[in-house]
Amino acid sequence: MPSQRVESNADEGPQEADLARFGGDTRPCPKCRADVYDDAEWCHACGQVLSQPAKEQTLPVWAVITAAALIAGLSFLLLAR
Ligand SMILES: [Zn+2]
Repeated sequence: MPSQRVESNADEGPQEADLARFGGDTRPCPKCRADVYDDAEWCHACGQVLSQPAKEQTLPVWAVITAAALIAGLSFLLLAR
């Protein structure tokens, strides 16, 4: 009977079981590059506060207004000639 060696990987970030439990949605911490869960609010390793990823790809209002103004301005310049 082979004796199984039980290794402790407590200092190597999330365990495989934890990764599976959370669906494997991890991303590297921008500060210490540790694997943190995608919906984590801060890094478990260094405490870096993580910004939530943009769930919706909607443009901010100022971008829409700026784009509309640019298009309107270009149209006016083209039509005015
Ligand atoms: Zn970190």
